[in-house]
Amino acid sequence: MIRSIKSFDIKDKNILIRVDFNVPLNDQGHIEDNFRIKSAIPTIKFCLEAGASVVLMSHLGRPGGEVDSDLSLIPIGEELAGILEMPIKFSHDPISEDAHDTSLGLKPGEVHLLENLRFNEGEEANDYDFSSKLAKHGQIFINDAFGTAHRSHASNVGVPAQFKHKGIGLLVDREIQYLSATIKRPKRPLVLILGGAKIGSKLGLIESFLDTADSIIIGGGMAFTFLKAKGFNIGKSLLDESMVSTAARIMNTARQKEIQLLLPTDVMCGNNLDADEPIGPFSIHDMPSDLMGLDIGPETIESFSTVCTQGGTAVWNGPMGLFEINGFGTGTMRIAEALETLVENEGTAIVGGGDSAAAVKKYGLSESMSHVSTGGGASLELLSGKSLPALQILE
Ligand code: AMP
Repeated sequence: MIRSIKSFDIKDKNILIRVDFNVPLNDQGHIEDNFRIKSAIPTIKFCLEAGASVVLMSHLGRPGGEVDSDLSLIPIGEELAGILEMPIKFSHDPISEDAHDTSLGLKPGEVHLLENLRFNEGEEANDYDFSSKLAKHGQIFINDAFGTAHRSHASNVGVPAQFKHKGIGLLVDREIQYLSATIKRPKRPLVLILGGAKIGSKLGLIESFLDTADSIIIGGGMAFTFLKAKGFNIGKSLLDESMVSTAARIMNTARQKEIQLLLPTDVMCGNNLDADEPIGPFSIHDMPSDLMGLDIGPETIESFSTVCTQGGTAVWNGPMGLFEINGFGTGTMRIAEALETLVENEGTAIVGGGDSAAAVKKYGLSESMSHVSTGGGASLELLSGKSLPALQILE
């Protein structure tokens, strides 16, 4: 059993929290989006209001074990201090004596942020010595960094291994509720909506939902490998040759298990990946040989949306088209709207992290979903029924 932060007596305790402050930075090195910092606030405030002090640790970017001033957590500390409306302490070297003294001297209600953990190569190597030194910062360990939960690094595996009292924060608790508990006992029908470019990274998810789903919808670039396996001419559309037989097997299994599997019946096209004006719609029965399918067409939007809105629980991973280009974002936007309707009708809509999360955000619909995951790879693995190393160590 994994314990929630809420189950500990944390008054006057020093809580070491692994947070995910891996925020996107713009060209000037400024924080482009503080969503991840804001997501950590409920757990931090919960601790402070209960009379605990807090030590926060995170990575930012990929400095590769070396100090890189462009990836310092100092601006994140400033942003955090602004959100919390209080000063916070900062240590440049997380495993120095000074840093340990700062943590030891924290009074209830105070916050201490450690510099980017990946400035030390011990973090990604899950080094024992590095973990032991980090572990000295608190009496209770809490993991609230879902985005890295599928990795075995020092701060989320090596450090908790050294703690008797450990658990998860409010953010990770919510991720587990939606990505694991809800899926195990879904309100039916259970619909899986897949899109994006790569089939390989979503195979585990497909296999797992072939055991549980009532319907599987496949759009985006990956749909063309399935259409190819069915014998359609897909023109110059994205094709993963190595996955054609896998796609055929998946469709076969779905048929045997009487799972409804929906593929696009019409598509919007472009000349190449740089196209900005959609051409079409074309039925998939007569796709031009010199064009690429870059979004689902109106007939497909209709049929996919109907299945989405009639679901009980829907899980979405991957955009329906090249949504980064406005002309090819219609299918993705309309699926997001269908999920909004599903939630209005008392259904549950769960959006995996990464591109689908970016898409619902782009269309201003994040708040309309039941849950938008903060982790890309981690959400895929949890939804696939796999156990995540950072959660396993807390059991
Ligand atoms: P993935 O990481 O596999 O989820 O792929 C996400 C990417 O797939 C996004 O950048 C989309 O623009 C891209 N994508 C979606 N549909 C298509 C398509 N029909 N052709 C090419 N790329 C696509």
